Amino acid sequence: MARTGTRSNDWGFPRWRGYGSGRETTTVRLCDRHGCEEPGNCPAPKSPNSPDRWYFCEAHAAEYNRGWNYFEGLSAEEAAAREAAESRDASGFANAKHYAWGGPGDGTRSRDELRALEMLGLDSDADAEAVKTAWRRLAKENHPDVRPGDADAAVRFQAVQAAYEVLRSAEDQRSYKPR
Ligand SMILES: [Zn+2]
Repeated sequence: MARTGTRSNDWGFPRWRGYGSGRETTTVRLCDRHGCEEPGNCPAPKSPNSPDRWYFCEAHAAEYNRGWNYFEGLSAEEAAAREAAESRDASGFANAKHYAWGGPGDGTRSRDELRALEMLGLDSDADAEAVKTAWRRLAKENHPDVRPGDADAAVRFQAVQAAYEVLRSAEDQRSYKPR
């Protein structure tokens, strides 16, 4: 059981401090967000499967939940879109190249490509023409101009764009290589 109301409880995490003015008759746990003086009454897990909890005020709990645990809770489409977006920068690219050979694949297409194909609803042996056709159709179906205010469609649209980007750049790379 946590001890409260003593000086020694006031120097680290979790922060306990008198709340209210003057006489500290009640002691509440403060929001764990640095500098926040609101009562922290919303527990949030510090990491997946960990019993450790942060205690945030409502606003900071919401903020934390938005930012935490990057991939969990994302649909496959969202996760792939995010991964593809990150793979566009240099470090992501190096990373993607590394694991592309470790994952399942038919030997000619990387894991990324297979995932991108799946997202476009295509088989693993789909050719460039089929990719382009599927991409055009799905991009049109989910385009923000066509589905204004539809958040799911917006996510799908991004995922479709990202998938096409993956396949197109893979195709480009292949065409520079002697086979
Ligand atoms: Zn707070």
